[in-house]
Amino acid sequence: MTTTTELPRAAFPFIVVDDMGRPALTAQRCTKCGATYPDSERMACGKCGARADALEAFSPAMEGTLHSAVIVRRGFPGVEVPFISAVVDLDGGPTLKGTLRHSGFELDDIQQGRRVKVVFDDALGRQDKNGNSYIAHHFEPLSA
Ligand SMILES: [Zn+2]
Repeated sequence: MTTTTELPRAAFPFIVVDDMGRPALTAQRCTKCGATYPDSERMACGKCGARADALEAFSPAMEGTLHSAVIVRRGFPGVEVPFISAVVDLDGGPTLKGTLRHSGFELDDIQQGRRVKVVFDDALGRQDKNGNSYIAHHFEPLSA
């Protein structure tokens, strides 16, 4: 039996792909303390300990602020370098880690506070054993 589909698979648990193949972010928010998580199936809030029934799903903003970034110049075989590994605080939460692309590699290009948007794209051509492709999130600078 083959499970190959035309639709890409989500590379992370905070990405959902609908029946039309359109990706979106999903997250959870604690209704007791407001903490947010890039996750869809948490058992409890890591901040206040509230159980899963206190966590609600929501669709995070597709824009955020660069919290930190590093320029990666050495990678595993097959991984093109350099690239920028970034941590972004999405507007309203949560915080996501991902690759910042279409950005320069100067320190000014990766300044904390830079505004970025989330885009979805193929996950570097990776496929599962059945040939299904993966879709991942990336960050790109918002136009100044
Ligand atoms: Zn909480």
